[in-house]
This record gives sequence, structure tokens and C-alpha cells, in this order.
Amino acid sequence: MKQTYVRGTSLRLISEPAELAAFCRERKQRGETIGFVPTMGALHEGHASLFREAVAQSDCTIISVFVNPAQFGDPDDYQYYPRDLAHDRLVAEHAGVTVLFCPSAETMYPEGTSVSAHVAAKTDVLCGQSRPGHFDGVVTILTKLFALIQPDCVFFGMKDAQQVAIVDDLLHSFLFPIKLVACPIVREADGLARSSRNARLTTEERSEAPHVSRGLQAGLEAVRDGCREAAAIGQTVKDYYQQHLTIGRVDYVDVLTYPGLTSPPDGMVTGRFIIASAVYYSKARLIDNVTEHCPASV
Ligand code: AMP
Repeated sequence: MKQTYVRGTSLRLISEPAELAAFCRERKQRGETIGFVPTMGALHEGHASLFREAVAQSDCTIISVFVNPAQFGDPDDYQYYPRDLAHDRLVAEHAGVTVLFCPSAETMYPEGTSVSAHVAAKTDVLCGQSRPGHFDGVVTILTKLFALIQPDCVFFGMKDAQQVAIVDDLLHSFLFPIKLVACPIVREADGLARSSRNARLTTEERSEAPHVSRGLQAGLEAVRDGCREAAAIGQTVKDYYQQHLTIGRVDYVDVLTYPGLTSPPDGMVTGRFIIASAVYYSKARLIDNVTEHCPASV
């Protein structure tokens, strides 16, 4: 459903890193706390839920809108990624955001850029497997943004659960004194996870897409019915997709520990786990997941 956003509090637009750093420094000197939400724009209710959480928990909320070239493997995906700054301003303003930071790619990757960050764990599974180098691009841009803004809290969506696990490792590894807040997945009424990429689905693909989340729910039902075997849980999801996806092509279905992202010990889920999948459509690759806590025995 298309959401209508109206103008709320005044929003400041900043595109220069030095101006952003000075703004944040000044706010911190006043004793204000800073909440930060990084995004790639084409903002929707999923993003807005993060903004509202940041506004509720911080004196000053900064969001970034930056389509980060370093995290795209497919040049078409980067080129055609939806961009709409006028709309993004309205969404941010409506949620009560203080600053929208929208730098250019040349600004964030100045000529002669020779240093980047690398993720050495949790990237050989899920999206890391299908998108080599993606998470290096993510942590590189986040390191720059965290250094500029020096936020007290950062807000990320569980829609990108692998990203949440890796950002947690980034904060730990680089000793960033920043609290990570993981926010729940916002969905359409039919269960489809909100995503900027949903706009790139054809009408037929959009009708089929809710099955991506329903398949994961089928896997979760199996766990709730007592199944603990990761392979069997994964197979339940695959069987569901086999029956219900005629256009989408499954990239992966996986059942792992969370946030460790390892195969469950002895193939049996216990503790917190994730069931995650990715499905290719003609111009969009959709990802979704469910995480839950499972008691040691039924
Ligand atoms: P993106 O613009 O896709 O890079 O996303 C920016 C942030 O919004 C990330 O932390 C995402 O996980 C989060 N996000 C995107 N879609 C959703 C959603 N449907 N529900 C909750 N968070 C989301």
C-alpha cells in the first residue's frame, strides 16, 4: 500500500562530510545524544520504523541516504537502484529526523582511496555467498559514517539479519563505543517484507512474492511442531517454494544459528536461530528471514 507522508518538523539536508561532522560535534557539546540510521534511500515504512525508533531514543537523529557503489556486485543493480530524494526528504521529515546526509559517491570515495575494511567471518553463508565483497563494501561505508557522526546508537533492520550480525562484529572489532539497536521487519499486509527493490517487481512477480515469507513461516511452523533438524526445516521451506514459486528462482534457503551464522551443532537447532532465504525475480532479488529462540528440548 502506498503511504502518504506529510511535512513534519524542519529537516536539515547536508551533503558535505565536514559540515556533518561539525554539526554532530556541536550537538554533542550541547550534551545531546545522536541516533544514526544508514540507508540507501527509496525510503519506505521499513526505514521509517527505524527513524521513529531513533527519534524516540535520541535527542538528534541523523539518517544517511547513499547508494553505496562498493556494496554492489552487479552494475545494473547499482545503476537501476531506485533513487528519489524529494520523496526521501518527506519520509524523513515526517518521522522527525534532524539531518538527512546525502553525499555524492565522489565525496565518500575521494580520488586515491586506497584503504577499505574487510569482514573475515560470517560472509561465507547467506547473502555473503551470493554477493562476494558485498559486506566489505557495507563495513567500509559504515566505518566512514560512524567516524564522521560518532553516534551513540545506530539502528538497523532485521530484514538484513546477516548485516546486523556483521555490524555487531564491526562495532566490537573497531572498538566503536556505539550501541546497536536491531529493529523488527516491517511487512506489507500480505506478509511481503518491505523493500526498496519491491518497486522493481512486475505485477505477476508482486502477486507471487508474499510466498517468500510464507515459505519461511512454514519452516517456523515445523520448529513449533517440534522439528529440530535443520535440514528438515530447510526442506520444508524448499518444498513450499517448489509448490508456490513459479516465477521466482530460489538463490538459497538456510537454517543457521543466530547471530553466529554457523550450522546448528549436530544439525539440530537450539537457542536462537535464523531461517533465511533469497529469491531472484527478473529485476530484483528478494531476501527475507525469521529468527526465533528455540528451547533445548521439546
Ligand atoms: P537499505 O536502504 O535497504 O540499505 O536499508 C536501510 C536500513 O533499513 C537497513 O538497516 C535495513 O535492514 C532496514 N530495512 C529495510 N527494509 C526494512 C523492513 N522491511 N523492515 C525493517 N527494516 C528494514
